Amino acid sequence: MDSRPPREGPWGPGVETIPLRAAPYRDLCTDCGVSRLADAKACGTACQFIRPDYAGLEAAVHGRARDPARADEDHFGVFLRLVRARLRAPRPGAQWTGIATRLAERLLETGMVEAVLTVAPDPDDRWRPVPVLVTRAEGMAACRGMRMGYAPLLALLEPALARGHRRLAVIGIPCQVYALRALERRLGLERLYVIGTPCSDNTTTENFHRFLANLDEDPCSITYLEFRADMLVELRYADGRVRTIPFLMLPIADLPADFFPLTCRTCVDYVNALADLVVGYMGGEGRQWLIMRNARGEALLDLLGDEVELGAPTDRGRRDGPVKAFLENTRRAAGGLPLRRMPKWLRPIVGRIMPLVAPKGLEFARARVEMKAIETALLVPRARPRRVRHMVPPHVWRLVARYGIQPPDRPSG
Ligand SMILES: Cc1cc2nc3c(=O)[nH]c(=O)nc-3n(C[C@H](O)[C@H](O)[C@H](O)COP(=O)(O)OP(=O)(O)OC[C@H]3O[C@@H](n4cnc5c(N)ncnc54)[C@H](O)[C@@H]3O)c2cc1C
Ligand code: SF4
Ligand code: SF4
Repeated sequence: MDSRPPREGPWGPGVETIPLRAAPYRDLCTDCGVSRLADAKACGTACQFIRPDYAGLEAAVHGRARDPARADEDHFGVFLRLVRARLRAPRPGAQWTGIATRLAERLLETGMVEAVLTVAPDPDDRWRPVPVLVTRAEGMAACRGMRMGYAPLLALLEPALARGHRRLAVIGIPCQVYALRALERRLGLERLYVIGTPCSDNTTTENFHRFLANLDEDPCSITYLEFRADMLVELRYADGRVRTIPFLMLPIADLPADFFPLTCRTCVDYVNALADLVVGYMGGEGRQWLIMRNARGEALLDLLGDEVELGAPTDRGRRDGPVKAFLENTRRAAGGLPLRRMPKWLRPIVGRIMPLVAPKGLEFARARVEMKAIETALLVPRARPRRVRHMVPPHVWRLVARYGIQPPDRPSG
């Protein structure tokens, strides 16, 4: 156990950061924090990139593994229901309306947990995530918003236990949540609530700064960025300006080939399969999108009462065209061929039309999950052929079979 004292950070009372051990080198690692625990070898059984057992952990956490015969479970994992949602009073600084941090606030307010593990912005760099332990509800406000980068969140488990906390909540992205669930039994917690977010296309904070510098000549003035479900990137600035850029107009071609690390290009869990409740946006058509996976997830949502407005998700359009275009471009890139890019003059026009014709609501979310699965299915056999059998779970192969992609040991045809 790490018995070093907590360090009060600059985020206000009840939010602390803790000195961490250095991280040993690991291949395919997002520094979720496990390698910084006293037993750094725990990575061998805890890592989603080594030999994940999604079915076994789903059964342990939700009572059953995902069932391909149930509508949408191959895409979204085990769930009781999917809803569109928003806080009636959106919180300042939140990425969307602030449901993720409000849930954690309620857990602390009601005494259901003693501490929340999450990330706060580095005081010197708003985009850099720093793992923190929050013990007072009012501390959660400092953690709102999305940061790009990796934070060794789970390294705080030992200090939290050392301080006697036995009822915990964790807000985490999928690679953190997988490792948390893999270690859960040995932590000896009395209670654990896991609030997850979907996650895709993460990269190092340093890389992200290069991306911002390509978007604006004054990148430091950008305070918010989101890849919205209507295929526009929304930027907000310190002076209150808001700017949207169609995905097609993004300077992606100017980024180096290694901009997105191999981890995030081969990640198999976009929708955070092992969280109790997932707070995302991609199935929400302009609102937030919640996946309630089990009874704990439902109990979490109950904590918000009338504060949250709920509705049925929308589901419109067809994903086949965009997903097939993505597949073709991913294959071309893998084969070293130039991407099929439309002429520069046409891009602003198509960029503005695309949101109108693109799939919406759940169909958009299915499209994104399939694109991610395609990237994984094409890339892992090329980049880490020996990991394919253990690293890529069966649901990924079922998702890509629709597009004629088979596991490498099963020739297609
Ligand atoms: C890198 C990344 C990629 C994402 N991609 C998608 C996506 O493709 N589709 C989708 O539907 N949703 C995605 N999300 C989730 C989405 O951006 C929102 O965070 C989520 O919908 C919650 O919104 P909110 O207003 O309720 O969050 P808030 O109440 O503002 O809380 C956000 C929570 O996320 C935590 N957080 C912020 N940055 C990180 C980070 N780097 N690592 C770990 N935790 C972090 C914060 O500490 C806070 O607890 C992504 C999130 C991240 C961090
Ligand atoms: S478990 Fe976490 S720290 Fe260990 S190798 Fe995997 S991502 Fe890295
Ligand atoms: S894309 Fe996957 S591997 Fe990368 S940070 Fe997100 S959850 Fe982790």
